[in-house]
Amino acid sequence: MATPITATAFVAALKKEGVRVEEVRDWRNHNRNHKGPWGPVHGVMIHHTVTSGSKETVDLIYDGRADLPGPLSHGCITKDGTVHLTGHGRANHAGLGDDDVLRAVIAERGLPTPNERNTDGNRYFYGFECENLGDGEDPWPEEQLDAIERAAAALCRHHGWGARSVVGHLEWTDQKSDPRGFTMDALRERIADRLK
Ligand SMILES: [Zn+2]
Repeated sequence: MATPITATAFVAALKKEGVRVEEVRDWRNHNRNHKGPWGPVHGVMIHHTVTSGSKETVDLIYDGRADLPGPLSHGCITKDGTVHLTGHGRANHAGLGDDDVLRAVIAERGLPTPNERNTDGNRYFYGFECENLGDGEDPWPEEQLDAIERAAAALCRHHGWGARSVVGHLEWTDQKSDPRGFTMDALRERIADRLK
């Protein structure tokens, strides 16, 4: 049972992991806690934004859309490898997913294929939205992949989790395809190496 990291400790953990951090507006008090529970936290979820343009992307993840209010994640990782902090607390990123997947994440064992939408992921997962069109062609620069690896590892290290606590949105629900353009297994391998 893990208590969510504080905003100050989050910044410190990211910097210690070698991440370039930008704090966006009032991110420390920006959340959806008035709409539902936040925590205990069990893992980190990786997404792609289906956008291009770093400024527009960060603003979208902070503000959200008419049909989906922000924050849309805790951090937005742009192509240059900067982690923009966009929210602290419950965020609209994971949506409903499979309780069997949640149990596997908690146990850090291999993930079953998701086939149910019965569990509130926004309560249990940190989220990083990563700037990419998600069309399978838009490249993922090494600086960006490195930042994703480091940001996820920072949270794993803080909580004492292994790389299996990091999942892709597509592993949480069969309704999503993100992230696209690299495999979660490859990312988890990098995170595991970093955590050694
Ligand atoms: Zn997603």
